[in-house]
Amino acid sequence: MVLGGSAHAEEEVRISLSANQSKVTISAENLAVFDLKSGERLGFASGAARLLIERKGGQLSLSGAVAKTGSSGVVVESEKGLRVDGRLFLGRLTVRPDARSGLEVVNRLPLETYLLGIVGSEMNPSWPIEALRAQAVAARTYAMERRTKMRAANKPFDMDATVLSQVYTGAERITDAVVKAVQSTRGEVLSHRYMLVEALFHSTCGGQTASAGSVFHHNVPYLVGRACAWCKDSNRYRWSMEMKLEEVSRRLQRAGLIKGALTSFTRTRTRSPIEVVVGGAKKVVHAREVRAALGYGELYSQEFTAETRGGKVRFSGRGFGHRVGMCQWGAKGLADRGSTYREILSHYYADSRLKRIY
Ligand SMILES: [Zn+2]
Repeated sequence: MVLGGSAHAEEEVRISLSANQSKVTISAENLAVFDLKSGERLGFASGAARLLIERKGGQLSLSGAVAKTGSSGVVVESEKGLRVDGRLFLGRLTVRPDARSGLEVVNRLPLETYLLGIVGSEMNPSWPIEALRAQAVAARTYAMERRTKMRAANKPFDMDATVLSQVYTGAERITDAVVKAVQSTRGEVLSHRYMLVEALFHSTCGGQTASAGSVFHHNVPYLVGRACAWCKDSNRYRWSMEMKLEEVSRRLQRAGLIKGALTSFTRTRTRSPIEVVVGGAKKVVHAREVRAALGYGELYSQEFTAETRGGKVRFSGRGFGHRVGMCQWGAKGLADRGSTYREILSHYYADSRLKRIY
């Protein structure tokens, strides 16, 4: 997205909530259902209402608060928010059959409302306000940049609700501090040479952020390695973890990284190649693929050493997340020491500029 001189309006974002399911339960107060294509109102239920939407063949079947069969897609709205399988979301939902055999469930809401959910999901709302403000600007920039890319590629959503884009647990953790952080930075984004920055962030860098080139194999001028002496309070600053060799073997095989039983898994330095032995033969596997195979919540970062002993692989590492862009624990540490959100952002996104676009 090129940032010109013209005024931008606040945009709507589309968050995918589906996880291969064929039915979804929505509950809300005063719930209204509309046809996705025609906009015709299919039904309204006042008071506490529950709606079950199931896929039947290539169409939807609605029951509960509103009954309807043979629909090709619906919009569900409620002013007070909607609970989807128990989690609270603001805005409206669109539900339609996906390209496989499940449902495509997308939460649509104004960007600034979405940010209220994101800031409280991504950071502890009790952290200092300057850290929350830095998170609000980074998340806003990230969402706008993703939105532009996904719409250009004709995708039905801009982001999903997992760690692979931004953690969005819904609207449960919206506190006064979160509202203040979002509202006081309304419309502010980071740019580099008149383009929106790809504002990646992560939990803990472990002392030095990683460049985009070293992790994602493409260089980005503002995503370079930055020193960070402020994330030591994170319990993932340094970490160790053990996993049974046969479990590592099973997960690497499931991910297609090796064929056959693993007998050794070794990495002597945090950036050296990972050597594995499978059926007596040596092979090198990549840290990024190993992390995806073993689980993002178990192998906390790509920056680790490993040795195999007594039927177990022992990992020792630093940081949590991909370690590119803003270090969230570092942002907290800087805010604790009196840095402003502008200073925090300009440290982690080198040569970027803060702009208000609406
Ligand atoms: Zn850090």
